[in-house]
Amino acid sequence: MTLPLSRSLITLLLAAASFGSTAEEKVLNLYSARHYQTDEALYSGFTRQSGITVRRIEGKEDELIERIRNEGANSPADVLLTVDAARLAEAHEMGLFAAVRSPLLEARIPAHLRTSDWFSFSIRARVIIYARGAVNPDELRNYSDLANPRLKGKVCSRSGSHPYNLSLMASIIAHQGEAKAEEWARGVVANFARPPKGGDTDQIRAVAAGECAVALTNTYYLARMMRSDKPEDRKTIDRIAVVWPDQQGNGAHINVSGGGVVKTAPHRQAAVSFLEYLASDEAQRYFADGNNEWPVVAGVKVSNPALEALGKFKADSLPVGSLAMYRAKAQVIFDRTGYR
Ligand code: FE
Repeated sequence: MTLPLSRSLITLLLAAASFGSTAEEKVLNLYSARHYQTDEALYSGFTRQSGITVRRIEGKEDELIERIRNEGANSPADVLLTVDAARLAEAHEMGLFAAVRSPLLEARIPAHLRTSDWFSFSIRARVIIYARGAVNPDELRNYSDLANPRLKGKVCSRSGSHPYNLSLMASIIAHQGEAKAEEWARGVVANFARPPKGGDTDQIRAVAAGECAVALTNTYYLARMMRSDKPEDRKTIDRIAVVWPDQQGNGAHINVSGGGVVKTAPHRQAAVSFLEYLASDEAQRYFADGNNEWPVVAGVKVSNPALEALGKFKADSLPVGSLAMYRAKAQVIFDRTGYR
């Protein structure tokens, strides 16, 4: 049995249903693949400043991109925030982002760290670590040294298929060409202490435990451990040393976390405001102090003892958008050389 609805009630219901998509609504739908608890401060900071509520959907990087693609024109996503330049470039190639012209973003974010539709908001570097006493530091200054036969049986690595290694490889291809890059990969594989496994933190622990002498890691994993109170983390950090690679050459390979406005964003204005907020001094400090990443905006004062201890470094100035160009080639080379 159904009850007849009065015309006015139907009108009311329709009005309520369409309210969800009016321009007045103070909501932002954020799809975020940043897996860091400390990001909470970013969202509450934005809400405090703008009055816009952030509705967050978290997921794995590739899942979120796939989800936006599947949702198509009906996607509620306003902003996609993720890590790794190659993934951001992939979203761009799929046409998921809307072009954004923002004088504020253009003024605050250096040109090599932004594109026409996605922007970097924080920087992480890929550094070499080694076990103190196990390696002569004079023989370990550059990424190329990881392929030196002197390190035979001493190198630990995570999978070559992981975006962090693919992006590093992409930068090597960009600077030195495919042939040299392949030679390098072959040399590193010949030096493996064990087949690639685990994440960056696992490589740090393996070096400290003596399973290998040398590895690569993103700086924020290192910094997180440097700031940890756990006795086992303290021991790990005491046993290792950090090398800023390629300081006389192209500089250390950097990767970014960043995002863009989704093409079909129901709240486009709020989405642009959110990106602009992420480039504010306050948000830039959250990236640095919360997740141990470097700000992209010059001159932002951070107070992070681990970042201070890591010190100043020369960063590779390769435009982040170009890393994606060589990503497929990087994978082919890793496959061919057995860097799995
Ligand atoms: Fe990570």
